[in-house]
Amino acid sequence: MKLAERVDRIKPSPTFAAAAKANAMRAQGIQVISFAQGEPDFDTPDNIKEAAYKAIREGITKYTPAAGFPDLKDAIIQKFKIDNHLTYDRSQVFASAGAKLIIYNLAQALFQAGDEVIVPAPYWVSYTDIILLMDATPVVIPTSEQQEFKMSVQQLKSALTPRTKAIILNSPCNPTGATYTADELKALAEVLLQKKILIIADDIYEKFVYDGTVFTSIASLGKEIQDQTVVVNGVSKTYSMTGWRIGYAAGSAEIMAAMDKIQTQNVSNPVSFCQKAAVEALAGPQDSVKKMIAEFDRRRKYIVQRLNAMPGITCSLPKGAFYVFPNVTGLFGKKWGEKKVSNSSDVTGFILEEAKVAVVAGSSFGDDKYIRFSYATSMENIGKGMDQIQEALKKLV
Ligand SMILES: *Cc1c(COP(=O)(O)O)cnc(C)c1O
Repeated sequence: MKLAERVDRIKPSPTFAAAAKANAMRAQGIQVISFAQGEPDFDTPDNIKEAAYKAIREGITKYTPAAGFPDLKDAIIQKFKIDNHLTYDRSQVFASAGAKLIIYNLAQALFQAGDEVIVPAPYWVSYTDIILLMDATPVVIPTSEQQEFKMSVQQLKSALTPRTKAIILNSPCNPTGATYTADELKALAEVLLQKKILIIADDIYEKFVYDGTVFTSIASLGKEIQDQTVVVNGVSKTYSMTGWRIGYAAGSAEIMAAMDKIQTQNVSNPVSFCQKAAVEALAGPQDSVKKMIAEFDRRRKYIVQRLNAMPGITCSLPKGAFYVFPNVTGLFGKKWGEKKVSNSSDVTGFILEEAKVAVVAGSSFGDDKYIRFSYATSMENIGKGMDQIQEALKKLV
């Protein structure tokens, strides 16, 4: 069968691929510790589950409005008001089956052949492939550890062309944890406003900030910038609801209506009772979030300290999200048996085979010098995983 050309243009999500590999090894009876997938290990809080049970019992099991029930829209509007001091009406918010589908629908609504979309690297694995699926061109701006993985105004300026349609900003960033300050965002916003570049702000890690870091949504910097930004967010990470598939967006009514139209031709609507659970997540008690962040903070410090104690690995302390992104170039050029380690996927291959630990290669995020660990797994797993890597590294000479 001759498949469409677009299939060859993209790769399977590398985080899903790494998790699948770990699962396949487990099926063979090999115990694998996985740091691959970005998914909180906490259970979804009970109040949220109860809201879903209740919805099912009440028969809320049918099609819903494409962009979500009015009460979900209202909960989203309230969330933006309280957390980000942003005001939207119902025509300016939109729900979908996860933030990934929000970004996909948004890309369908906005991008086509000839459009350039700026993506600062290291970036979340799906941005570039979603852009490619729309026949548009991702323009990657590489950032370095020295600049805390944050794009400078100068870098942004030099990447702009008459074809630049949008930029995808992800702060706190998956995989680096880089979190832009309000001043840094202001400086970028000035350029983007002047050039009328649409901003897609993926704020999904907004609650995951540490060491007194303050989260700012670029949309909250003023009316003009709000009008030029689509904020993307979701309940997956904040409320440990990855399997429920509820994400949401806020932005101009025109763009939301376009996404609505597209959604009626793909998923139709986000799952009915999951929407009710999302209302409870957004509008209900928030104490579970605080507990989770405190635990993540503890793990973050521990894993960074363990990684820095390993020969050939250096790891900076990220300010946000729940990943660490250690530099592994110190391992390049080393050998293990007949095999030589010369890039990030060689390192992840070595770690999987010899330490039975699954991690994701930095090349998937646009920087081959690093590997990514999600520390959204138990302290026990982190401890064991670090012990196993430390032991395995003795085999690299
Ligand atoms: C996890 C993640 C998403 C997608 O989350 P959903 O589960 O689809 O809501 C989007 N952006 C980033 C940066 C992520 O890490």
